[in-house]
Amino acid sequence: MMIVMTPQATQHEIDAVVARVETTGVHVVVMPGELTTAIGAIGDPEGVAELGLEGMGGVDRVVPISRPYKLASSELSHHEPSTFDIAGRTVGGGKTFTLIAGPCTVETREQTIGVAKVVKAGGAAMLRGGAFKPRTSPFAFKGLGVPALEILAEARAETGLPIVTELLDSAHADVIAQYADVVQIGARNMQNYALLEVAGKLGKPVLLKRGLSSSLDELLMAADYVLKEGNESVILCERGIRTFETATRFTLDLGAIPWLKLHTHLPVIVDPSHAAGDRRLVEPLSRAAAAVGADGIIVEVHQDPEHALCDGPQAMFASSFDAYARDVAAHAGLLGKVLA
Ligand code: PEP
Ligand code: MN
Repeated sequence: MMIVMTPQATQHEIDAVVARVETTGVHVVVMPGELTTAIGAIGDPEGVAELGLEGMGGVDRVVPISRPYKLASSELSHHEPSTFDIAGRTVGGGKTFTLIAGPCTVETREQTIGVAKVVKAGGAAMLRGGAFKPRTSPFAFKGLGVPALEILAEARAETGLPIVTELLDSAHADVIAQYADVVQIGARNMQNYALLEVAGKLGKPVLLKRGLSSSLDELLMAADYVLKEGNESVILCERGIRTFETATRFTLDLGAIPWLKLHTHLPVIVDPSHAAGDRRLVEPLSRAAAAVGADGIIVEVHQDPEHALCDGPQAMFASSFDAYARDVAAHAGLLGKVLA
């Protein structure tokens, strides 16, 4: 349920409503808006309905949240998009476009710092790079682990770019929290609910990728797991899904972006690299992502993709990043957005 207060409601009245709702043991979220404050009461709608909140001072109306996802729902936010700041870059909100770029995996210091400088010069807002990699085969390269995080920190010190890196296992939570500016949850872990709760508690923005075969409702309920830990900074990522089509690595669901814009207040970015699996498709898919309203892109870049230890065929050549970024920025500009 959502309790919408009147514009004149006092803090005392808001506190009184929160206290009464809390007696039912539901999850309570207070959302101050531009004009009015809304109070979300998640769980036990019958119990909340019985409280008679309509009669309390300062209450305008009590409305049900009809969607299966609650905290991620645009119903809860008065349909206002969420924005948050990551190291001085605004994510979400419709005025900025966040370009996150870097290697799939940290391989060496030279490779990572080299590519970080290239993407920074091209206008990227953040550096991506995997330290702990989820690999389909247990025999494939799984990343350098903590030494990779140290390299990423060096790249951040050199370029000023905040770091996006994946939390693969709750056993790595402390060390990831120590180094990452944004904690990525990979597609394969979107339904690892225990890991989502761990990620939600780290106090860092979370980039949540859509599962390979997950519906958008499921993605938003996964986001609820992070949000309910009190973490409001969740970025959703469409990275392609499994369909009957095998020509591309995954099928990029471009329709997901405007759908998510209607149903959630959270920012939405697109990963054209993992969707395509082929660098030749990355630029056209990126243009499409910008045109369809994405808040940003996360893209893989490598100086020498033919010798990359992971995901080489989809990695863009570092030498083409500058032109790529200009092209994407121009398309984001058509919707009035500038690179964050
Ligand atoms: C990645 O970003 O490197 C990655 C493994 O992506 P996904 O979880 O979308 O497959
Ligand atoms: Mn990859």
